[in-house]
Amino acid sequence: ETSSYTRTPAKIRDKEVNVLAEYNEQRASGKELLNLVVVGHVDAGKSTLMGHLLYLKGNVGQRVMHKYEQESKKIGKQSFMYAWVLDDTDEERSRGVTVDVAQRMFESDTKIVTLLDAPGHRDFIPNMITGAARADVAIVVIDATTGAFEAGFESGGQTREHAILIRSLGVSQIVVAVNKLDTVEWNQDRFVEVKSGLRQFLKTVGFKDADVVYIPCSGLTGENLVKPCSDEKLCSWYSGSTLIQAIDGLKVPERGVSRPVRMCISDVYKGQGSNMCVGGRLDTGYVQNGDRLLLLPQGNVLNVKGVQADNAAPSTAFAGDHVTLTLGGVDPSVLHIGDFLCDPTKPIPLVNRCQARIVVFNIAVPLIRGTQVDFHYLSVTEPAKIRKLVSQLHKTTGQIVKNKPRALVKNSAALIELEFTRPLCLELFRDFKELGRFMLRTGGSTIAAGLVTQLLD
Ligand code: GDP
Repeated sequence: ETSSYTRTPAKIRDKEVNVLAEYNEQRASGKELLNLVVVGHVDAGKSTLMGHLLYLKGNVGQRVMHKYEQESKKIGKQSFMYAWVLDDTDEERSRGVTVDVAQRMFESDTKIVTLLDAPGHRDFIPNMITGAARADVAIVVIDATTGAFEAGFESGGQTREHAILIRSLGVSQIVVAVNKLDTVEWNQDRFVEVKSGLRQFLKTVGFKDADVVYIPCSGLTGENLVKPCSDEKLCSWYSGSTLIQAIDGLKVPERGVSRPVRMCISDVYKGQGSNMCVGGRLDTGYVQNGDRLLLLPQGNVLNVKGVQADNAAPSTAFAGDHVTLTLGGVDPSVLHIGDFLCDPTKPIPLVNRCQARIVVFNIAVPLIRGTQVDFHYLSVTEPAKIRKLVSQLHKTTGQIVKNKPRALVKNSAALIELEFTRPLCLELFRDFKELGRFMLRTGGSTIAAGLVTQLLD
C-alpha cells in the first residue's frame, strides 16, 4: 500500500528544496516556537506567575479577569485570581475530549511560547511531569520568602527533584524565577543568597552557568514580568531583563525538519463528513496536503486532506509545530490517542524491549527485577516490567558505580532493561529526542524518568 507514496527521486528533491526554503523563510520572518514547562515546589507561585504573565500578555480578556477577581474576592482569596487563568478548561469541555496536555500560548518579541501542562491549578504538579518530557526549556519557580526556598531543597522538596528531572529529560536551558521577592521587601541580599545556592546545585546536576538566567520577580504584583521594574526598591539594584525578555532570549533547539515524519496523536475528533481530525505536535519532518502517513502500531496508510498548524503556515506543518491534520476515509475506531503517524518509507521501529538510562525519584520501595510499572511518554501509557537492572550509575557523572545491582533505591541512577506487553513505537533518544524520553509510574505517582539508549527486538 505504500507504493503510491513513492515519488520520483528528482521530484522528492525539488519538493525538499522548496519546503526547506519555505521553512527557512518563515523562520526568518516569523516567530519561532518554544515549548516551556514550569516547575518548582508546591506553592512557589507557579500558577499565579504564569496566570499573571498570560494576563499581562493580553491572552485573557478584561471581562474574564474581572469575573475571576469578583469570584476570588467572594471566597476571600483574591490572590487566587491569576492562578484561575490556568483553570479555564472551557475549550476542552466544549469539544468533549480530554486534552492530555492543555496548552496556553503567549508571544514574546521573537517567540511563540507554548506553556505545557497547565490544565487546572490543582493538577499542576503531577501534570508537570508529562510536560517535562516534551519541553524545550523550563522556568524554575523559587519562593524567595524566608525559609521557603530552603524547604524546596530539603528531602521531599520539589525544587531539587524537578531540576534533576528536567535535566535528565534533556532540557538544558532554564530561567529561574526568583519569585515572591515582594515578601522580603525586594531585598538584594536574599536574591543573591538564593541565586548562589541554586547555582551551586544546578551545576552539579549538569546545567551550564551560561544556560541559566536568574530573574527577580513577583507573580502576585506582576513586578518585572513584562514591564521593566517599577518598584523603587528593586530598581535600586536591578536593571536586567524582565521574565518575558529572559524567555525570549532562550535558544530554540534544532527541529529536524528534513528528518522522517514522526508525530504522536494527542487528540482525536470527528471532522466534516467522514473525515477525522487528529491533533498533536509534529516531532520531526513536515506534512503537507496530499501526503500519505503510516499509522502505527495499526499499520494503516492514511491520506492527509488538511493541515492546520499554529504558526499560520497555510498548508505545511513543520517539526515543532502543534498541528491538526484532517485525515480522509478513515474508520474512527482505528484512531486513538497515543498512536503514531510517520513516514511510510521510514517507519518508527516497533519494539518489545528497550534499554534505558533512568533517574529514580524519592520512592519508598526500591525497584527490583520484575517490578511492574507504567511506561509513559508523549500521549502513551503502557504497562511494562523492569526485566534487568544492568548497572547503577553515578547520578551526575553517569559513570558505572556497580554492575547488576540487586535493587535501585530512591534518588539513584541506573541502566535498566524494560519489557512491554505489546510492541511500542520507540526511538533512541540520541536520534529522536521526543520519542526516546519517558517516565515510569506506579499507582499514579512518578517513580523515575529516563532516556532510551537501545532498542531490543
Ligand atoms: P503553585 O502551587 O506553585 O502553583 O502556587 P500558587 O500560584 O497557587 O501560589 C501559592 C500561594 O502563594 C498563593 O496563596 C499565592 O497567592 C501566593 N503567591 C504566589 N505568588 C506570589 C508572589 O509573588 N508574592 C506573594 N506575596 N504571594 C504569592
